[in-house]
Amino acid sequence: MPCVSGFPPDAWNQPPPPRPRRRNALLLRLYDAPLQRDPLAWWTVVFAVLVVASLATGQSTTGIPQWLNITLGTVVMTFLFAVLPAIIRLQVRRLVWRRRSRKTVPQSHIAPPGISSPPANFVSYPTPPRNTSVSRNPSANAWSPAQSPHIEPTTQQIPLAPAEQPSPVQDRPQTIRRAEPGPAAVPIISAHPPLPDDAIAGSDVLRKARQMQYPIARAARALQRAQEPKEQYEALLEAADALSVTLGATAAAWLRAGGGDDAGLAQLRTAYERGVTQGTWNSITRRASAVSGAGAAFPGMPAGAAAKKLQVHLAELVKERNLWAHGSAPRTGAEAAQRLERLLPVLEGALERAAFLVDVPWVLTQSSSYNVRTRQFEVIASDAMADHPEFERRRLTSAVPLADDRFYVLVRDQEPLDLTPFIVYRPCEICRHAEVFYADRLPDGSSTVLKSFASGHKIIDSTLDEDIRMLCGPMDSQSTES
Ligand SMILES: [Zn+2]
Repeated sequence: MPCVSGFPPDAWNQPPPPRPRRRNALLLRLYDAPLQRDPLAWWTVVFAVLVVASLATGQSTTGIPQWLNITLGTVVMTFLFAVLPAIIRLQVRRLVWRRRSRKTVPQSHIAPPGISSPPANFVSYPTPPRNTSVSRNPSANAWSPAQSPHIEPTTQQIPLAPAEQPSPVQDRPQTIRRAEPGPAAVPIISAHPPLPDDAIAGSDVLRKARQMQYPIARAARALQRAQEPKEQYEALLEAADALSVTLGATAAAWLRAGGGDDAGLAQLRTAYERGVTQGTWNSITRRASAVSGAGAAFPGMPAGAAAKKLQVHLAELVKERNLWAHGSAPRTGAEAAQRLERLLPVLEGALERAAFLVDVPWVLTQSSSYNVRTRQFEVIASDAMADHPEFERRRLTSAVPLADDRFYVLVRDQEPLDLTPFIVYRPCEICRHAEVFYADRLPDGSSTVLKSFASGHKIIDSTLDEDIRMLCGPMDSQSTES
């Protein structure tokens, strides 16, 4: 029984928590979340109480005052017998995980199950010129948002998503040299030309992404504003995460509305127990793409070769995030710049294939009323698109009633798709602002943990628990018992 040490049996199969960005988060990272389920956290508390009790009742043989004796004794003993074991456990887990991920790197380069590697004659896409002598004009190729506020979506023309354009130019080779994790990292010999200084700030693709759903748009803006390579590197990973969650949540809303893939929703529900990873969101997107290819298409969702290419890009970004999370973040600005050379085209490629998101906007409803004459619901909503945190108001009509204060995906000629419980708008207890959250976790016997796209703040919301548990129909009695 692997439980002799008292750790949850699955803790060793999960990546250890990433290195904290803030020093004061260090202590919490030593223990498993939620804290009350980590026996070592309990042991620390109980041990400290026992030490205090025994020192308080015992006689001090030294000359130092009793209160000092208790304080010093408790700190030293608790550190030695409770905190130190937690530190050792974390280090061992990091070591085990690093070894394991090193072993699995060759496999993890392969696309996720169901996605075959692109054939040699795979349709390629034009990559933006990266010539240092050419300064890009950001106003060229002006790209307007598909929908402006105060226009009813039922009556307007929505441009089609840009089609995949075959190009005679061969695609970049996808075999990418990566940094080995750990201190023995070999310097990467980059196969890519160095990025021009304005490659990120002047990127057309990122500028267009700033008209997408708010989570992506705000992350793209943060990336374009970042100055130092290390800052840009982390902002790029954040943007990739926002893209995966936005795509995945949109896909999940569509699958739930009758996309005909209960297995996908079952997978998502299971993933909620431990926390939905970027990889799981990508998997939900892949499932929706597969259904799209089969018939009941989600408008604009890439299918076939484009979907595969999108998944290859997303998987590449997940792999980089895992390296970063497991102790292989770039240590110098130069190393970050080298990785950005490789990652920026990958993120841009993914964003180009996700361009359809602009045509299926997210709205946050405020109120609605039934118009007897038109027999439609007139809804006042905010446009959860573009990078400004204060959403623009818009009016729309709907043939079906919509609940207030909920996010919906507007799909042309179809009923709006409800994004609850995946994406919600809630007041944040930490920063006292209303923020866009996504449901991140629903641990067994606990409540839903929401995570803010903008700040990373986490709050608990028990009103979503039932929605998540019922994702693919009510749980049968067998699965609740086991
Ligand atoms: Zn907050």
